[in-house]
Amino acid sequence: MDTSLLSKRVKVMPESATLQMAQMARDLKEQGKDVINMSLGEPDFGTPEDIKDAAKKALDDGYTKYTPVPGLPLLREAIVNKLKRDNNLDYNINQIVVTNGAKQAIANVCLAMLDPGDEVVLFAPYWVSYDSIIKIADGVPVEVYAGIEQDFKVNARQLRDAITDKTKLILFSSPSNPTGSVYTYEEYEELAKVLKDFPNVHIISDEIYEYINFSANHTSLASFDFLKDRVIIINGMSKGFAMTGWRIGYMAANEAIAKSCVKIQGQFTSAANSISQVAAAYALDHGIYPEMSEKFNARRKVFIKLLKEIPGFKVNEPLGAFYLFPDISYYFGKSNGVDTITDSVSFAEILLKNALVATVPGKPFGAPDCLRFSYATSIEIIEEAASRVKTCLKEFNIKKL
Ligand code: PMP
Ligand code: GLU
Repeated sequence: MDTSLLSKRVKVMPESATLQMAQMARDLKEQGKDVINMSLGEPDFGTPEDIKDAAKKALDDGYTKYTPVPGLPLLREAIVNKLKRDNNLDYNINQIVVTNGAKQAIANVCLAMLDPGDEVVLFAPYWVSYDSIIKIADGVPVEVYAGIEQDFKVNARQLRDAITDKTKLILFSSPSNPTGSVYTYEEYEELAKVLKDFPNVHIISDEIYEYINFSANHTSLASFDFLKDRVIIINGMSKGFAMTGWRIGYMAANEAIAKSCVKIQGQFTSAANSISQVAAAYALDHGIYPEMSEKFNARRKVFIKLLKEIPGFKVNEPLGAFYLFPDISYYFGKSNGVDTITDSVSFAEILLKNALVATVPGKPFGAPDCLRFSYATSIEIIEEAASRVKTCLKEFNIKKL
């Protein structure tokens, strides 16, 4: 086909870098290569057995039909209860929309709220899909960058400076993908104070890593009363319950926003999968599965220590999610005589080719000096990966261009 016939929208859109790297790793594996895949942000655990049993029962109970567009009432009630139990937040079921993964929840909100030219303040480093989703909705991402020296966390002054008359939304995640950083209560307070001065700005708070948080507490910006009506909470089952393939996310917002997202979803996808919805309700009623988070924390500690031992890597100690995001710019311009590392993209390619370790370059996350490693894998594999990376980079460390 003549690809010039494709829409401008799709022509300028990059492929999701996370999914692209994951596919490259899968392809190499299929060719028989012993690839360690640290690219995809996906728990290595299977979904807990009791959640799978709830899905089997849902099938037997006849949950095989379209559900209401915003989701089954039993799931929306479970979400309302979860928000009260875990976050001390009051919502009613009309404020909840269940989606095909958190990704669709973010897309619904952007499509529901953005007009051409509206600005979205994007805390960088950011998850790759935020930027594309904003653009699909004709919005303009305005990046605010927080580097490793500030633990990748945007401060109040930076936020204030980024807001203009055109700002419609703020979009960020804590715990963060790709950095793992977690905002403290005090840091939230500072951000909330700024947002108080901009009553027309709404905030998308992506809390999908809520349960993978090794600090004492998870805070939602919605817990500041004066902001609650303007905060759109995004969450989902993929990470905390190891349910990536089930495709259940959700959002909680004021009724007007929730209703308009239902309108969009009704035209695009009708509703999320009925069987997954029943299983998700079971999982949320059951509550946290702490074994997974404990394992992630043990792996985190091992991986931080190992990455810090690699010459030239700048490594911080994030308290959430399952990512490390070292600054690897020390290697830019260095060669092993065959390959030259020019940027984070070539760095990731060389690691994949020479060390058979798949990662994701920092560039599509808005952080061209960094590289994302997902440590959602066993300690043995983490040790092997770190050793391969170190060995591969030794050659680049010695020979300068
Ligand atoms: N937000 C963040 C920060 C993520 O890392 C992901 C990972 N996929 C998502 C949203 C989307 O999750 P899902 O669509 O699987 O619910
Ligand atoms: N969110 C995960 C990641 O960042 C899964 C892949 C995706 O949807 O981007 O790797």
